[in-house]
Amino acid sequence: MPGLIKPNDKHIAALIALVGEEHSVSGEAAIDYSHDESPEISATPSVVLKPADETQIAEIMRYANSESIPIVPRGLGTGVAGGAVPFDGAVVLSLERLNRIIEIDTDNLMVVTQPGVVVEELQRAVKEKGLMYPPDPASQDTCSIGGNIATNAGGMSAVKYGVTRDYVKGIRAVLATGEIIAYGGKLVKNVAGYDLLHIIIGSEGTLAIVTEITLKLIPLPKCHIDLLIGFESVKAATEAVSEIIRRRIVPTSIEFMEGDIVRMVAEKSSATVPMVDAGAHLIISIDADDDEELKRRYLELGDIALELGAMDVLVADSPHLQKRLWEPRISSRDIIREVSPTIMAEDIAVPRAKLPQLWEGARKLGEKYGIRVLSFGHAGDGNLHIDALKENIPDKEWEDKMEKYVPDLLKLAVKLGGTITGEHGIGYIKRKYLHIGVGKAERELMARIKKAFDPNGILNPGKVI
Ligand SMILES: Cc1cc2nc3c(=O)[nH]c(=O)nc-3n(C[C@H](O)[C@H](O)[C@H](O)COP(=O)(O)OP(=O)(O)OC[C@H]3O[C@@H](n4cnc5c(N)ncnc54)[C@H](O)[C@@H]3O)c2cc1C
Repeated sequence: MPGLIKPNDKHIAALIALVGEEHSVSGEAAIDYSHDESPEISATPSVVLKPADETQIAEIMRYANSESIPIVPRGLGTGVAGGAVPFDGAVVLSLERLNRIIEIDTDNLMVVTQPGVVVEELQRAVKEKGLMYPPDPASQDTCSIGGNIATNAGGMSAVKYGVTRDYVKGIRAVLATGEIIAYGGKLVKNVAGYDLLHIIIGSEGTLAIVTEITLKLIPLPKCHIDLLIGFESVKAATEAVSEIIRRRIVPTSIEFMEGDIVRMVAEKSSATVPMVDAGAHLIISIDADDDEELKRRYLELGDIALELGAMDVLVADSPHLQKRLWEPRISSRDIIREVSPTIMAEDIAVPRAKLPQLWEGARKLGEKYGIRVLSFGHAGDGNLHIDALKENIPDKEWEDKMEKYVPDLLKLAVKLGGTITGEHGIGYIKRKYLHIGVGKAERELMARIKKAFDPNGILNPGKVI
């Protein structure tokens, strides 16, 4: 990036001295930090630094800023937009050692945590106190809470409980200049000045390094049940999603898999997949505070599904059955990548009533460009993961097709009133398409915000804008 330098041996030695040799990684071992979970992009960092605390992070940033060295913050590397990939010999600043839950405050229903804590561990710890931290990305067992803040991660339960942003009440962070900032806290209300929290949330490591987070918790619902509903066609399933919302029923989650994925999972995995001939599956979770209420709600939902043409409704009411019911959905992406290691994965969100048009439009684009396009995801949020499969298409032909298919698909999303990314972020991969989803004036404002936070552009350069 213009004005930035690849660190030389002297810089690297100075940076390592700030964290200690044993908390740095270089050479071959740094390859583990060269990629995230996005397909086919990687770049080896000059060095990986694993600071112990905020003070060390501030020292690193002060030095990097004075020498114009690019720094890429990294949580646990499960991102799928290339956000944590260190291009041009950037230094990776890994938050993995800041992995402590600082306090679960049962008086105020808040948790204060460091960013490197695995999301599932945080959820488990608050659950033990009868509380719930709802955002539950499918990667929750491997991603960090700091990464979730940086990407404003969504999850299965966003239909009812919202996304990460809805729970963040306070942040401590280090700016590119090394200044430490703190905004918010254990507060239900706070309108003091511009809301710095909501600029940092979702900024994908380009504005600040998040070092401490205060999150709102809610009482843990007492019971929940999952339903697997098969439909003859995708059209019927996506229309059912719209109808469920229209009738003001708000389940915890409504997940979707089209029939071809259901059959792929049945073929490739050891899981027994019911209703394997269906055109599409919906997995719907409902929670409640007592069994009566739960029963009333799932019977109502089951009736609606059958009224809308569902083939059958299976009820999973034990943890064992629930795990089996979710397995195919959780493994969808892995199974698709077994069939086609190279895919183009899009993450589009539209108003929920527009889901049938989104699916149909994506299918038609697949036909137009002669590629297999498969969809699954968070239908209850209007958020579909739409994967184009390369399979046996020759490399050059695939690239040519993608040059046209991707912008066409993203424009379709915008035409339907949607966004080019619902939860995975812009990162590196989508940067060239930001203009499709965000206007010129808004992009220019974003560039000015970036400049205010990071005057020399050292923090995660080449990402987002
Ligand atoms: C199988 C699978 C399923 C997934 N399911 C979902 C899903 O349901 N919903 C969803 O939203 N995402 C999902 N993801 C994407 C990914 O897990 C999320 O984006 C997650 O929030 C990334 O967290 P991480 O700790 O791995 O961050 P990383 O990948 O390490 O980093 C992601 C971005 O955040 C920045 N960053 C990380 N930590 C910090 C910090 N402390 N301060 C500042 N910037 C930071 C990085 O620079 C980078 O730009 C999935 C990924 C996989 C592989």
